[in-house]
Amino acid sequence: MEMITFQIDTRQAHTHRFHITLIIAEPQAQQRVSLPVWIPGSYLVREFAKQLSDLEAFQNGQSCTVQQLDKTTWQVDSQRGYPLVLRYKVYGFDLSVRTAYLSQERGFFNGTSLCLAVAGQEHVPHQLQLSPTFAPSTGEIWKVATGLEQVASTSLDSDSVMCFQAQDYDDLVDHPVEMGAFWQGHFFAHGVPHELIISGHLLPDTDTERLLQDTQRICEAQIDFWHANKQAPFKRYVFLLHVVEDGYGGLEHRNSTALIASRRDLPRKGMTDLSDSYVTLLGLISHEYFHTWNVKRLRPADLAPLDYSRENHTRLLWFFEGFTSYYDDLFLLRSQLIDATRYLQLLSKTINAVLFTPGRKVQSAAQASFDAWTKYYRPDENTPNLTVNYYTKGALIALALDLTLRQQGNTSLDKVMHTLWLRSGGGSIREKDIFQVVDDLAEAPFSLQLRQWVHDKEELPIKALLEAMGINWLTAEASMAQRLGLKVTENPLTGIKITHVLDHGCAQASGLCAGDEWLGLNGWRLRRLEDLQRLVTQPNLIATIAREQRLVQIPLVSVPEVGQITGNVKLDWVVSAKNSVPKSVQQLRQQWLQTL
Ligand SMILES: [Zn+2]
Repeated sequence: MEMITFQIDTRQAHTHRFHITLIIAEPQAQQRVSLPVWIPGSYLVREFAKQLSDLEAFQNGQSCTVQQLDKTTWQVDSQRGYPLVLRYKVYGFDLSVRTAYLSQERGFFNGTSLCLAVAGQEHVPHQLQLSPTFAPSTGEIWKVATGLEQVASTSLDSDSVMCFQAQDYDDLVDHPVEMGAFWQGHFFAHGVPHELIISGHLLPDTDTERLLQDTQRICEAQIDFWHANKQAPFKRYVFLLHVVEDGYGGLEHRNSTALIASRRDLPRKGMTDLSDSYVTLLGLISHEYFHTWNVKRLRPADLAPLDYSRENHTRLLWFFEGFTSYYDDLFLLRSQLIDATRYLQLLSKTINAVLFTPGRKVQSAAQASFDAWTKYYRPDENTPNLTVNYYTKGALIALALDLTLRQQGNTSLDKVMHTLWLRSGGGSIREKDIFQVVDDLAEAPFSLQLRQWVHDKEELPIKALLEAMGINWLTAEASMAQRLGLKVTENPLTGIKITHVLDHGCAQASGLCAGDEWLGLNGWRLRRLEDLQRLVTQPNLIATIAREQRLVQIPLVSVPEVGQITGNVKLDWVVSAKNSVPKSVQQLRQQWLQTL
């Protein structure tokens, strides 16, 4: 029977190397194998093969010649008729959710980093066998957590080998694996078992029960959203959360997600209100869980089948990432973890993030999606001038569409999502399918307008749509960074370092550059940008800059007054609910925000 088996040995954890044996039961003659260059969900060519070494092949007791064909493909001088065994090592010491990590503390890997794809046999069953590893400090055997299905061990030499089964290569590499002495909690969401794994050291007063309960509420609200019969399309779900001193990120998979967060973001025992950082973590959990439907099942037709050897372009990330970003915070509101006021604060942040990006006038949301590989995932000092973030811009397109449909009457973005799900059978969709559903549901055809929002660079009518919903659109005082048109890193010890100079702003017109250290203004030492507030009222402003080991004096062109900012630099927008609105508006607002 055709079968691919990977044996992963983590006993040399101190070297950070996974020792891997790949057994191909029925190889081809001249069998080719290759390692992916990217991991689905994270649109960047990462060249995982750079960490692979010591590849050897054996057949029928004899060593076989292995020839490397390109950066990620090898050909083995094999024959048909005998199992082919490959042995190799992969170094893993990356704490992110996208690759692999191995130390004496823990192991974590994605199959895209460790598992060679066997040409011609990507569709056969794949088995993963993990040899037991004993923690050096306690002598206890490492636990294993993954969304893969565990099966009885077929290995003769040890009962403690853990075996997992995948239906094909795509399935194998869509299940990250965590190993070590982690914290483990469980809950059911509408009858479906969910596991929450926390690896990394927890602060002693961490309220893990609270995290479990809050996560459960998000999961149940989302299962309710997608399925009237409360039947989730998976048998179990696993959250793999790794906590570190500073970190943030997540990657979605078909019935699991790998998350990274700061341990300070987790809730503390006795904490009654929700800290901003905990709300951000719950937003991340909500985001990755929503992807279980929106991108893992309902998915862009451009990415089916996946090509692991190169960039896979799609113009639809404004939908799959942007609409997921719209719903992630909305589900914190719908599961009553935050109230409407807190929700509108989060929305203000998203609106400001887009308005503070000159690149929104250079690139459409569809172009930004296509260019994710070279622009969003390879940010530099020019990124805000060149590109718009398809997460935040896409979330605002979702907001504008949702409010338009609600104001037209009788429908909403929720119905668009449900209809797309039903029509596609939870499968591949194209842009035209989204437009078709919108036209079918809207009172008046709307896809032409939506197409413009997605493919053009005009401003979205968010202000008018929010006001029609009984939401105030106020302007608060612009920050110093907004008035100057720049972004910085700053702290009292190291001072101010300019990271980005935005197009058409005061900083650019004055000749300030990314990389400049801003030391002073008119004889005053600066340590924080806000120190400038009381200095910029003087005439003839001269900035003292350290640039490439030289001190430079730079005259500033006039810094815009608060309230006089034009062009690409905007005031901070604040949205909040109006107190008295007509009953019809109040009803609409109530249906949207549920609690107001
Ligand atoms: Zn996402």
